[in-house]
Formats: sequence, C-alpha cells, structure tokens
Amino acid sequence: MKTDVFIAGGGVGGLALAAKLASRGVHVVIAEQLKRESPVYKGELLQPKTLAILERLGVLGEVEENGHVIDQLRFQEVQRNRGAAPDEINLTELDYGRVASVYDHALMVPHEKTKEILRNKGKSYEEYFHYLPGTRFVGFENGMAKLKRKKETSYVHAQVYIGAEGRSSPTRDAMNVTVDRKDYNHHFLTVTIPRPEDYTKGKIITTSSCFLGLFPLPNKEVRTVFLIKAGEYKRIQEKGLESFYQAYSELEPALSEGVRTIEDWKSVQLMIPFTYHVDRYYSGNLAIIGDAAHTVHPMAGEGMNLAIQDADILGELLAWCKEEGESYTDYLHYYEDIRKPRVEFLLKLSHLSALVYSLPYDWWRRFRMRAVQRIYDDDYLHVKQMLNISGLGRWDFHLIDRAIQGSILPSRSKKVPDQKQQQYLFSDEEDYPWKKDRKDGSHE
Ligand SMILES: Cc1cc2nc3c(=O)[nH]c(=O)nc-3n(C[C@H](O)[C@H](O)[C@H](O)COP(=O)(O)OP(=O)(O)OC[C@H]3O[C@@H](n4cnc5c(N)ncnc54)[C@H](O)[C@@H]3O)c2cc1C
Repeated sequence: MKTDVFIAGGGVGGLALAAKLASRGVHVVIAEQLKRESPVYKGELLQPKTLAILERLGVLGEVEENGHVIDQLRFQEVQRNRGAAPDEINLTELDYGRVASVYDHALMVPHEKTKEILRNKGKSYEEYFHYLPGTRFVGFENGMAKLKRKKETSYVHAQVYIGAEGRSSPTRDAMNVTVDRKDYNHHFLTVTIPRPEDYTKGKIITTSSCFLGLFPLPNKEVRTVFLIKAGEYKRIQEKGLESFYQAYSELEPALSEGVRTIEDWKSVQLMIPFTYHVDRYYSGNLAIIGDAAHTVHPMAGEGMNLAIQDADILGELLAWCKEEGESYTDYLHYYEDIRKPRVEFLLKLSHLSALVYSLPYDWWRRFRMRAVQRIYDDDYLHVKQMLNISGLGRWDFHLIDRAIQGSILPSRSKKVPDQKQQQYLFSDEEDYPWKKDRKDGSHE
C-alpha cells in the first residue's frame, strides 16, 4: 500500500493528526492495534488551546455537546475528622476566565468519546483517510512500515512515518533517541463514580497527607484521583473497600453515596506517574508525537493536550508541504523547533505541581497553602498560571514571581490588562512560522 503519511497508533494524537491531514487532501494510513474501545482510563481534561484546535478541525460543537465545562479549579485544604465531615482550612479558586481568550474554560470529555469524534471526522474524508483497526505496526523493513493483522503481514510505503503509539513506540526505537525519565514517590488510584447533579466544579481536596482530585464529567459522573504512597495499593486493597469509601467520605461528604457504587477493585485503576522527554522529535522521514515523545505527570492534566497540540503543528506543516509541493523532510525540523521547548516548559510546570503535593508534612502543607493562595491574590501569578496551563501561550515565571509566591515579597495589587496578556498568547506566526519564513525567502 502507498500513501503520503503513515501513522502508527490511533490514540488522540494519531487521530487528530490523521483527521487534520485528511481534511487537507493528504492521503493517510493509520494503523491501530486495538479492534475496539479501550477499557483503560486516559486523559479527559481538554485545555483551552486544544479546544481552539478542535474548533479548526470542525468538531468543537460535538465535543462540547459531550463535555462538562470546567471554568474554575478549586483548591480546598481540610482537616480530616474520623467518621465525620472535614473542617475547611482554606479555599482558593483559580479561574480560566482570567485568560484573555474566547477559549476561557476547559472541558471534561470521556476519552473514548473524543477519539470517536476525531475518528468519525477522519472517516468523513473517505478518499484520504484509511483507518486499519486491529493492525499492529511492528517496525520498519526495507524502508516500509511492517504491519501485522492476525497472522497476515502487510507493508505500507509512505513519504513520512509518524509514531503515535504512546509510551511504547517502535518508531521511537527506530529513531534511536535518548529518553530521559523521572519517577515519583507516589501513585494514584482513579475511578469514575456518580455525583450529585449540582456537583459541577473541578476540585482538589488536600490534607497534609491526602490528596483527592475531583473532575466532573457529563452524565452526572465525576472522575476521581486519589493519591497514595508508591507501592501502597496492595495494603489498601487488603484493608478493604469500606475503608476506601470512608477515606472519600471524610474528604468529600457530597460523594459518600457515589463512592459506594464501587463494587470491587477491578473498576479502580492504579496509575503510576512518571515523566520522560526524548532529545529529538524527528529523524529523516520519521517523527514522533504525543506520549511517544513525552509523558507528563498527570497532576496538571496536560498529556492528551500535548499530543493534540503536537498533532496540530505537525499536521499543519505536512499539509502545507503537500499543498506547496515542498519536501516533507526539509521542513520537519520546524515541528521540533516549535513543540520541544513548549513541551519542556509544561513538563517542568507539571513536575512542580507534582512536587507541591508530594511531601506529607504539616509545614509543607502550610507552605503549599500560602503559595496557592498567593496565585489567587496576585493577578500576575494567576494570569501566568492559567495562561500557561491553557496551552494558549507562554508567560514565564520570573524570580520576582517566585518570591511573591513564597511570601518573601508582598502580592502586587495591579490587575493584568488584557492587552498586556495578549503579547504572550501564541500567534499563528509563532505556531506556523514556516509559512512566513518561506514568504520572506529566509528559509533558503
Ligand atoms: C489514568 C490516566 C489519566 C490521564 N489523565 C489525563 C488528563 O486528565 N488530561 C490529559 O491531558 N492527559 C491525561 N492523561 C494522559 C493522556 O491520556 C495521554 O498523554 C494521551 O492519551 C497521549 O495520547 P497519544 O495519542 O500520544 O497516545 P495514546 O493515547 O497512548 O494512544 C496510542 C495508541 O496507539 C496504539 N498503539 C500502540 N502501539 C501500537 C502499535 N505498535 N501499532 C499500532 N497501534 C499501536 C494504542 O493502542 C493506542 O490506541 C492520562 C493518562 C492516564 C493513563
């Protein structure tokens, strides 16, 4: 089989890329090893930049119909009481509305729904989109992608090969890149449970030693993420579900009924956080996107967004090359030039968020509480934090910001004018610079 672009892996990254390419008249073959929906939980929080990308793809309306809007994130510090409701010590609300953009909220969407919408979008360009379910990419042979489907072997010859296989990536292996990995002292248990109808805000509830993240989904459900010490899951299972129900109820009484719908540990997924980042995103006519290139700590809800944002830049680049009759491989460096520093930045930000919740001490909790409150009190910190996690732009934290956050300096009383903030939003020229470089003739 011959095609312009071959993609290994039909997760969110591969599908977003394939849908974009097909919509622009680029022939794409996408091989996905699974035959049907995956039962594994994956990312559900779509950040504002991802919503902008989905709008350009023409699927935002459908994604919104299947999503739950998150416009604020609540950080609640509590004192846990045995068998009773907790006492609130502090509550801080960070607001996506501080981002000067029409995309001023995030959206919780079931992962498989987002994939289904992207896949259907791709299929609507049937001449260009060739989706092969139940087909595993096993590596390269004679410059072609080798595919296995049951006992059959087939080959795809493409101009460019993209690895979107997630954490275990044969394309990455073929590129021979260096992978730099970090592990953490904690794990997470995650499970979706029913919620009351009016339980609509994203919330993180913490004590000095507990962390419960709650992110409402549509259909009166809520995704819950409970932090445990690394290696503690077996002991928690031995203590039984009753003590798990109790932990949830003592942290968030509003969910004490919902948590009791968990009938056995099978519905609870253990999530082991780690991060890595490769040193190169492309080599010759191979490139990698999403989790094949980087994995981020889940605390900041960025992994799926980074995959879709990679797909947007790479898709726009490859489509433009085809439209302009340019060689794909001459321009692939743009993809790495743009995405690698942005991903690096978000990896650091997510790592810091993870550290904030990693130490189970009272003094650390007091420090964290002040630091989170400072983000709310100081509009510069608030805007920078929300702008950076939104993916819509990048506004670095400076020493003075960190000194304010650490209560070494007082908060600033000045509000950030929207005009000032707009300088830090990514423009089309920053997202797709090769178009301008070519027009100026500076690329040559
Ligand atoms: C429990 C959990 C919670 C998360 N929460 C969030 C969140 O709230 N927000 C967020 O943004 N991110 C979150 N993430 C991270 C997010 O899910 C991933 O970063 C994202 O799915 C990466 O997308 P991807 O397309 O690169 O890879 P994947 O989603 O892993 O997709 C890869 C696809 O390739 C297929 N594949 C693999 N190998 C082959 C092969 N050899 N041949 C053919 N097909 C292959 C796989 O079957 C899969 O369908 C979470 C992850 C987990 C595990």
